[in-house]
Amino acid sequence: MYCEHCNRLVYKPKCPGCGSRDLRLPASEDFCLLTEQEQLWTQAMRDILLDNGIDFRERDLYGMGQVKRTGIPQRVRFFVRYRDYEKAKELQEAFFSASFELNME
Ligand SMILES: [Zn+2]
Repeated sequence: MYCEHCNRLVYKPKCPGCGSRDLRLPASEDFCLLTEQEQLWTQAMRDILLDNGIDFRERDLYGMGQVKRTGIPQRVRFFVRYRDYEKAKELQEAFFSASFELNME
């Protein structure tokens, strides 16, 4: 199911983000929370999504006002359309497991 308040897919009777039970089936155009990343990874995440032609939005956790004050947001949430969600998740997981292996060397 899908929570309109948080733009996220929910697999429980209520949304873990806001506690809402006002959930509906996701539509293919809905933006869904894909991942939350450290600033360090956001450029890589953008590149992966762009390279694969996936439409996405990003939002820092503190809102635009905070970005202007501090310069750089610390953590960024990425949203992709529901129709691209499975593909985007696979790309993300492939990327991060590859990065992890590199770090282990
Ligand atoms: Zn919610």
